[in-house]
Amino acid sequence: MSVDWTSRRADRLSALPPYVFARLDELKARAREQGLDLIDLGMGNPDGPTPTPVVEAAIAALKDPSNHGYPPFEGTTSFRKAITDWYGRRYGVQLDPDGEALPLLGSKEGLTHLAMAYVNPGDVVLVPSPSYPAHFRGPAIAGGNIYPMPLRAEKDWLIDLSAIPEAVAQAAKVLYFNYPNNPTAATAPREFFEEIVAFARKYEILLVHDMAYAELAFDGYQPTSLLEIPGAKEIGVEFHTMSKTYNMAGWRVGFVVGNRHIIQGLRTLKTNLDYGIFAALQKAAETALQLPDVYLHEVQVRYRTRRDFLIQGFAELGWDVPKPNATMYLWVPCPPGVGSTDFALNVLQQTGVVVTPGNAFGTGGEGYVRVSLIADCDRLGEALRRLKQAGIRYDAGLEALTNVAVGSPGKLQ
Ligand SMILES: *Cc1c(COP(=O)(O)O)cnc(C)c1O
Repeated sequence: MSVDWTSRRADRLSALPPYVFARLDELKARAREQGLDLIDLGMGNPDGPTPTPVVEAAIAALKDPSNHGYPPFEGTTSFRKAITDWYGRRYGVQLDPDGEALPLLGSKEGLTHLAMAYVNPGDVVLVPSPSYPAHFRGPAIAGGNIYPMPLRAEKDWLIDLSAIPEAVAQAAKVLYFNYPNNPTAATAPREFFEEIVAFARKYEILLVHDMAYAELAFDGYQPTSLLEIPGAKEIGVEFHTMSKTYNMAGWRVGFVVGNRHIIQGLRTLKTNLDYGIFAALQKAAETALQLPDVYLHEVQVRYRTRRDFLIQGFAELGWDVPKPNATMYLWVPCPPGVGSTDFALNVLQQTGVVVTPGNAFGTGGEGYVRVSLIADCDRLGEALRRLKQAGIRYDAGLEALTNVAVGSPGKLQ
């Protein structure tokens, strides 16, 4: 018996845009099979270990049988309290741990399920282009009608709210945004947050801010949180993650804070889907939020050092890469006339260095690649040496890249 299960998938799956990562993954796998030494700067996966006090708290909690049963749906009281204490300490805003904070199985889960909880088929959802894929894939799964808000270098990668047609603003139900930004590494001034809150209040739009890079900021820059803005809590929620700041990507812990009614909708959906986070991991996450600031400084210095090292190296190859004051990425323009997929695939084939083509984040990312600062300076130096050796420069023109035509038998075949 052979049933075609692919054609029997629900429509919501076929509504998803194709994954540019798939071709890249294929090439990566082939390169690995051939024993090629890949330098993977493609993922947003932090390379350091989770801080020791967090691991130790997890081990102790693991040994405590009171953590072994189903956790409470809404998260443990002490983790929710640790979240609102942390939030008060960082941003000077008091939140109620009972209702204004909800632990999540990583923020990606929450960002996607929020769309399932609030978006009906056909509802208009405003999403920046480029953006973190969950911001458009969640609404796409829900059947939403996605209106892309292009981000541009000329506007410092800020959303241009004045470019949204009145009818679209009137119809919009949800708006996703994210600063410090993945993938562009841009940050937004406080005035921008005031503007977007005023916009969302005027049109009664549910404002979703993803603040995954809350603590990965440098040179004295302190990112703004949505809920610092007066009136934001009436229309918005903000997602946070333990993954990036605390090197806890594999633990799957994040949280959402903000409007209690919006959070309640997400919670209602989630009580039908999951039982929340293993209580021992909530204990560990709680410990992370209480770590002294010296730990944060270490993480910040690590990324800042890599940022400066790589920007300097790119400059020697003819690149003028802007210096971001937050995130763990560089947003690097492709050589003139070269598409982002072609460029990323060529760099991979010729050098074994993996970068992410900007169009994986939406058409607004075309013309750029995202480089993650997830390797130490030795490895970044090796990546630069290989680029140089392959003749890949910003100003080298197409010739350097057509040594190996995309899709044709190249070094990796
Ligand atoms: C990495 C990242 C996330 C994912 O966070 P998890 O909590 O690990 O699911 C969410 N948003 C942005 C913008 C990210 O870069």
